[in-house]
Amino acid sequence: MRTEILAVDREKPGEGPIRRAAGIIRGGGLVVFPTETVYGLGADALSPEAVRKIFQAKGRPADNPLIVHVEDKKAAALVGQLDERSRRLMDLFWPGPLTLVVRAAGGIPKEVTGGLDTVAVRMPAHPVAIALIRSSGVPIAAPSANRSGRPSPTTAGAVLEDLKGRVELILDAGPTAVGVESTVLDVTGDHPVLLRPGGVSLEDLDEAVGPVLLPTGSEGEGRSPGTRYRHYAPSLPVILVEAGKARAEGSHLPGQRARVAYVGMSPPPAGVMAAACFASVEEYAKGLFSALRELERSGAEVILAELPVGEGVGLAVRDRLARAASGAEGPLDHWP
Ligand code: AMP
Ligand code: MG
Repeated sequence: MRTEILAVDREKPGEGPIRRAAGIIRGGGLVVFPTETVYGLGADALSPEAVRKIFQAKGRPADNPLIVHVEDKKAAALVGQLDERSRRLMDLFWPGPLTLVVRAAGGIPKEVTGGLDTVAVRMPAHPVAIALIRSSGVPIAAPSANRSGRPSPTTAGAVLEDLKGRVELILDAGPTAVGVESTVLDVTGDHPVLLRPGGVSLEDLDEAVGPVLLPTGSEGEGRSPGTRYRHYAPSLPVILVEAGKARAEGSHLPGQRARVAYVGMSPPPAGVMAAACFASVEEYAKGLFSALRELERSGAEVILAELPVGEGVGLAVRDRLARAASGAEGPLDHWP
């Protein structure tokens, strides 16, 4: 399959490209499209055959459910059962990087939910994504547009690295703004449970509908199947250091090897052969995944990664780095 890339303007995507993409979705095919978090690999969420193609293209385990992207609150009410609290969260944070796990409405294929009776739903804050969903006339199931286990793509180039020849069309609207995936919040119980930190902060959710609980070990695993799998993994080992400790750590790296790459907010330790430094935690989130892909190509043997403080989007950056660093598949036994 030949993969075509169509450049679109974020604010004015133009009717031609959107109609083309929507035609592919309606025909049961796959389209990669931008959201404010990362690029998504989309298919008609109401078609089991179309959704199965997502799993094939990504090499994704079938029991890892997908997020359903909708154009507004009204459409969300057709996908899942909304109560007062979920409606309030939508009013406060949509469109935006907040995914809500709610009871699934009838008619959502089990391919989307991984066989659960709940469904994850979100309204992205990206004009191209909204135009595509609207023009398709169906909700769009979309995980990140990477091969399973690779860092999520924040540019069309990163999508091509992973999915060239596996998808018909990529809508390219430039680098994504948030850079880490959406926050996933389970609102099916008495208290909301944070299944995955992301673009909307735990502090903001706590203020809106707190107390927000953190999943405990096995409970978290059961509730959010995706967290079981190794994610966001570059092909090099990643060594984590706490904020401000990179210089000291850099000097006693295993065998004092020279070929160390660094990513973080503090200045790089002396002697590293490649570095990505960010001026703020928001910039860190935005640039993290493309930095990991770039540092992989630098010829380094190991990546030294500085953990930011776990506030705001910093918690999501810590989570992704901890997953990148944990060599084996399996749940994180505690949150970073
Ligand atoms: P991705 O689309 O690759 O960013 O991953 C979606 C995330 O949402 C994964 O961690 C899934 O496990 C999680 N998710 C999707 N649907 C559900 C659901 N019904 N219940 C719990 N977690 C879900
Ligand atoms: Mg993903």
